[in-house]
Amino acid sequence: MSQPISLGLVGLGVIARAQHLPALKATPGLRLAAIASRNAGLETLPSYPDIAALLDAEPDLQAISLCTPPQGRFAQAAAAIAAGRHVMLEKPPGASVSEVQALSALARACGVSLFATWHSREAAAVAQAREMLADLEVRSVEIRWMEDVRHWHPGQDWIWQPGGLGVFDPGINALSIVTRLLRDPVRLTRAHLELPENRQAPIAAQLDMVAGLQTRIRAQFDWRQTGKQTWEIVLRTDGPEIALREGGARLEVDGEARISAPDQEYRALYARFEQLIARGESDVDLAPLQLVADAFLLGEQTRVAAFHD
Ligand code: NAP
Repeated sequence: MSQPISLGLVGLGVIARAQHLPALKATPGLRLAAIASRNAGLETLPSYPDIAALLDAEPDLQAISLCTPPQGRFAQAAAAIAAGRHVMLEKPPGASVSEVQALSALARACGVSLFATWHSREAAAVAQAREMLADLEVRSVEIRWMEDVRHWHPGQDWIWQPGGLGVFDPGINALSIVTRLLRDPVRLTRAHLELPENRQAPIAAQLDMVAGLQTRIRAQFDWRQTGKQTWEIVLRTDGPEIALREGGARLEVDGEARISAPDQEYRALYARFEQLIARGESDVDLAPLQLVADAFLLGEQTRVAAFHD
């Protein structure tokens, strides 16, 4: 049997601890060999303050997984790619569309794999919903992605800064699912962003989009919902109504539950990363990030009440 690919993880924060570490443990083809994080480390592994120190000290590392915030990710990814390492990016893949395009070109030039992940596309219901939709005509799509920012992102200052996306940080998960489900490209036609008067990023947004020529898509993103989150996408078709709820973990067809499965999203992402490396391929789909960028380009902006953590 071939040796597992040795991997370094950068940015030991909420998602790295909750999802990446357990998923890596469950992926025999990848071996977590080192960590880079400014303020954290693991006792069991060599830990470095940043990616430069990690790359210098660990010449045998073959791959890097970046779990840092999107701002600053370009420099980290570019350093890893230039050093000949395969790179996996948390979502969103960068703070801008153009910087991820530049990373793609760099990865091609350096002959390494670049994987821009969209974890929600791996939610249990997405593949089956996509299969069902292949035989149906979608008439309209309604996205409701609402959650309590204080519960999901406590103290995350970066998320309110330019490039942090604000409410699009969760909302882009819905966009990643919809752009996977629909056959036609999705374009943004109108957006309204609500920005707290003391913040740089929206706390709520409403988007109108169209897939192909006439499939209307309406999205409502809101961080001011308290209590349980709502993460749902309802597709009206020329056949049954198809609903993905709980972030894509649950599939309902005409109101009847078809799938409700535990979360395996990050295991699927690492399995795919391993496969991309083995095949010498990259996977960088910018459609969800492009829609968010377009919402900032086209969106009307309203200032709303200040937000304090
Ligand atoms: P987080 O808890 O803030 O962790 C990010 C880590 O990156 C920090 O702990 C920090 O560790 C390091 N870091 C490096 N440069 C930083 C900077 N300039 N500002 C702040 N931290 C910096 O964030 P997260 O929730 O894990 O999110 C990281 C990425 O994963 C984001 O792109 C997010 O969209 C994505 N994601 C998050 C979730 C979630 O539920 N939280 C789910 C899916 C995807 P050091 O201080 O030790 O350097």
